[in-house]
Amino acid sequence: QWIYLDGSFVTKEEAKVSVYDHGFLYGDGIFEGIRIYGGNIFKCKEHLDRLYDSAKSIMLNIPLSFQEMQDALVETIRRNELRDGYIRLVVSRGPGDLGLDPRRSPKASVIIIVEQLSIYPEEAYINGLKTVSVSSRRNIPDAVNPKIKSLNYLNNILVKIQSNLAGVGEAIMLNSQGYVAEGSSDNIFIVKRGVVFTPPCYIGALEGITRAAIIEICERKGYTLKEEPFTLHDVYVADEVFFTGTAAEVIAVREVDGRTIGEGKAGPITTNLLQEFRSIVTVDGVK
Ligand code: PMP
Repeated sequence: QWIYLDGSFVTKEEAKVSVYDHGFLYGDGIFEGIRIYGGNIFKCKEHLDRLYDSAKSIMLNIPLSFQEMQDALVETIRRNELRDGYIRLVVSRGPGDLGLDPRRSPKASVIIIVEQLSIYPEEAYINGLKTVSVSSRRNIPDAVNPKIKSLNYLNNILVKIQSNLAGVGEAIMLNSQGYVAEGSSDNIFIVKRGVVFTPPCYIGALEGITRAAIIEICERKGYTLKEEPFTLHDVYVADEVFFTGTAAEVIAVREVDGRTIGEGKAGPITTNLLQEFRSIVTVDGVK
């Protein structure tokens, strides 16, 4: 396995960063998780747009141009001879001193790791996941803006701990006002009487690339899609609930906090959206 580290390709054992790196000391940096399907980098431009927007927002100077970054992704995949897998692209503030000041970290570090991926078994896409709501609240703008895909994932880790304790794979995070925000690393959708709902991102959700792809598919397939705030009550009484994310794709939920959702398995709209999603993954992106 070859890892891209600041312009060089190194082995997993050689891929080390400084203990003074502010990504390590303060979670100061940004990242992307991207999928490769059949040699195609799915939604490459969208992921890089989000990365460069996140960087601009936190005044992090990425030492590669957009095109150079895309070339680095392609080259890392080629070296690893991978046609299907997962890319983790990290840009950290880089090594500095022990203070917070980012001006003391003049050179950002760029890391690209590609790996095989298996997250949920195929059975889970048919039968759905059990999930719970948790007490950790999603950051709202000004804490760590949810639009910035930053390395500050402590909230999400707390959600993961709570979902581990509950014995489930993903959980539902609310915002500080009690509206449903998203999962620990996925966006959330519900379906009620044929209408598809997802929370608007300003409520405290990442602008997920998979979320955007699903919104686009809904428009194309003629499903009514509403970006509207909703509560746990709406989730409990929904006909269908599903999560979307780069790793999870479109995964149905069969139970939330002990309440069975719909028929207790992936519903028809969720199943249809997953099929449509899987039909575009090998074409919509960069070869
Ligand atoms: N929300 C959070 C907090 C995430 O970390 C992710 C995964 N990157 C998502 C949503 C889903 O976003 P995407 O579809 O771009 O993977």
